[in-house]
Amino acid sequence: MQATLYIVPTPIGNLDDITIRAIEVLKTVDFIACEDTRHTAKLLQHFNITTDKISLHQHNETQRSVQIVALLNEGKQIALVSDAGTPLINDPGYELVNLCRDEGINVTALPGPCAFVTALSSSGFPTTKFCFAGFFPIKNQARLQMLEEVANAFVTYVFYESPRRILPTIALIAQEYPLMQAMIAKELTKTHENYVGGNADEIVKWLKEDITRQKGEFVLILRANNTEDNAQVPSEAMALLNALAKELPKKRAAKLVAEHYGLNTKLLYNALLNK
Ligand code: SAM
Repeated sequence: MQATLYIVPTPIGNLDDITIRAIEVLKTVDFIACEDTRHTAKLLQHFNITTDKISLHQHNETQRSVQIVALLNEGKQIALVSDAGTPLINDPGYELVNLCRDEGINVTALPGPCAFVTALSSSGFPTTKFCFAGFFPIKNQARLQMLEEVANAFVTYVFYESPRRILPTIALIAQEYPLMQAMIAKELTKTHENYVGGNADEIVKWLKEDITRQKGEFVLILRANNTEDNAQVPSEAMALLNALAKELPKKRAAKLVAEHYGLNTKLLYNALLNK
């Protein structure tokens, strides 16, 4: 059998969410590479899986990936799991997968639990175009820049947020963009699963009402109230549009900038006419 690296998602709360195939793979591979061997040991014990474990976390990923690729080259089958959810989604594994691809080693991913997909699919926000942007930025300037990006976009944004920062982050949104649509999805698949949405002010109120509500794991979903009719043209796109319109017919300039930024041509053309 060809050596394969299996990317194996694990539950984000409810243990029943593991798949039959995930259990089979975890039982039959030679090694399981895990972010935290003690954490994964509890999951493996629950499903009577006795496979040997190797640690692979953000601090040893480079060196450990080389060792795991050597094992794969010897013909060993290896599964990669993270503490919860889908490996590589804000979790370690990128260097290993990339190295495997470079070396022509077979990599296959099993579908399974992922917190942001779970939150997004049940949020009621538009899902045809979305941007998953990992953890919401921590530094002040980056936080404001991110909110400006969301405010100028036509897509739904999904973030992870820590319990320590959930209240300050939502309070910042309430202060800077009070009309932005927001939702938090908390403790998904667990006993205290909860979705709170509306605008940021309402979420701040809910979080403050009972301090225990600020504990747990959170997904944050944001979307500007932009439609292609009322949208503001982002300043960067407007600058390019103005520069091109000096050299080209307005319609052509609008079309080029629309294609480049994924914006609406009519919106850009009108912006030029209304200048
Ligand atoms: N790989 C994981 C996945 O597939 O979702 C994400 C790992 S990331 C390091 C951990 C973050 O995901 C948490 O801080 C939280 O924001 C989010 N998360 C994980 N489990 C969650 C849950 N049950 N409910 C809400 N958010 C969750």
